[in-house]
Amino acid sequence: MKPMRLYMFQTGTLQCRRCNISMNAGLEDYEIPVPWYLITHPRGYVVIDGGCAVECASDAEAHWGAITQVYRPVMREEEGCVQALEAMGIAPEDVRYVLHSHLHLDHTGATGRFPNAVHVVRRREYEYAMAPDWFAAGGYIRKDFDRPGLTWQFLDDNEDGHDLFGDGSIRFIYTPGHAPGHASFLVDLEETGPVLLAVDAAYTMDHWNEKALPGFLASTVEAVRSVQKLHALARKTQAMVVTGHDPEAWPTFRHAPDYYS
Ligand SMILES: [Zn+2]
Repeated sequence: MKPMRLYMFQTGTLQCRRCNISMNAGLEDYEIPVPWYLITHPRGYVVIDGGCAVECASDAEAHWGAITQVYRPVMREEEGCVQALEAMGIAPEDVRYVLHSHLHLDHTGATGRFPNAVHVVRRREYEYAMAPDWFAAGGYIRKDFDRPGLTWQFLDDNEDGHDLFGDGSIRFIYTPGHAPGHASFLVDLEETGPVLLAVDAAYTMDHWNEKALPGFLASTVEAVRSVQKLHALARKTQAMVVTGHDPEAWPTFRHAPDYYS
């Protein structure tokens, strides 16, 4: 096992309109990256989210249904998380954890794809994904995460800051608002220092800088306060902040096979 590294991947992009990402922005075409992450930790491989399910590469409409009229996946088969890890020489059996920021359709590509993995998610998110409200239902593809034989670890409300390996290297930060059980991640690397993966608690730098609300959310007040919570954490830790779907910020990061250590 190699020393701890953070690899940034993407399952292509989603084509949508600007207002889907920034509330009340225009109807012009917009294209956002769909990031996911691999952490190589001395105690095992950890996948975060996994992007879109690989089925989106061949027939997104069959897999996602009508929501593809709003968010259209553009991805290649080799961008699927299993395929991308295999290309790096990592077998699916060797992934120890799949961590979920939340269970929206562009964050469940890894769910059930790694046979020995424990899938970690907030209980609140799992329960909501199983019975979402009408306005959020299109964002959850139940067949991605309601699969037989998965090992789940559910985090309850009193487990904010959950420390995956007990060594402070990977922590869950509860950031509801975008989704009821959304989590961001604080990853502590030796050379780079702390990295804050905001995921969809901040879609873009506009959202991070409190200049725009996201185009989709479950609770406006919670979404705003989660950004403020992450601001405080970033100030305290001096973390490098990575937003969830920012087409301008995303290209500035190192992408796999390059990595942060
Ligand atoms: Zn997302």
